[in-house]
Amino acid sequence: MGQDRTDLESRQGKALEIHQRLCQAYGCPIAYFHDLDPLSELISSLLSHRTRNQDSGRAFKALREHYPDWEALRDAPTAEVQHHIRGVTWPEQKAPRIQAILRAITDRHGVLALDFLESLSVQEARSWLEAIPGIGPKTSAAVLSFSQLRRAALPVDSHHHRVAQRTGLIPSSMNVGPSHSALAALLPADWDAQAVYDHHEVLMLHGQRCCTFRDPACGRCVILDLCPTGLARISGSRSPDPSVLEPVPDNPLHRRP
Ligand code: SF4
Repeated sequence: MGQDRTDLESRQGKALEIHQRLCQAYGCPIAYFHDLDPLSELISSLLSHRTRNQDSGRAFKALREHYPDWEALRDAPTAEVQHHIRGVTWPEQKAPRIQAILRAITDRHGVLALDFLESLSVQEARSWLEAIPGIGPKTSAAVLSFSQLRRAALPVDSHHHRVAQRTGLIPSSMNVGPSHSALAALLPADWDAQAVYDHHEVLMLHGQRCCTFRDPACGRCVILDLCPTGLARISGSRSPDPSVLEPVPDNPLHRRP
């Protein structure tokens, strides 16, 4: 029990140090990249899963242009929706899934809107969303953090996840899903939405620009001394590298212009 607490406190301290150094490197606060209402952010997030940013952005724009409101998208022929989002990966799965999620929201809430989430706690809002099949922790956190709700929820994308594994913030065997709660538990409870957003953003940026999947630039990494993977690589050690997991395509959460 005491060992567990010591380990948690150690990882909390490391997370804070990593945050501070990466914020220095990448310039916090980071500007929000979206300003969508929560329902639109949800649709955008669902489209973007394992899809290049420009393709999911184009599909979202096509839906906006073709349907006067999201009720019309919900009630449209699925084949038609699939046609409009044909540029994303797996449009044949995403079209019916998005419509099923929109119907589920309507059934549970009475109307097709998510603005009411603002009155719930972050945990309540995430639980409400994740009770709908097809919405996982990454999507629920994205809706709360990236939308106009601007709540303190931590999404974890593939870059963020890789840096967290390599630095030992989470075990190398931990998948993205459970990493959401594990990584959120390392952050100070009193951090506001911007600080939590910054944390996600700087780890994501570090994964994109320095700690890349195939060739991490440990020699110029500002958190090298905190990272067992980097230290092992620099010293030439053959110790197992937790980065050697299956490659993950482009980050599905970030749709920067
Ligand atoms: S030291 Fe290397 S492995 Fe560790 S975070 Fe930096 S770039 Fe990634």
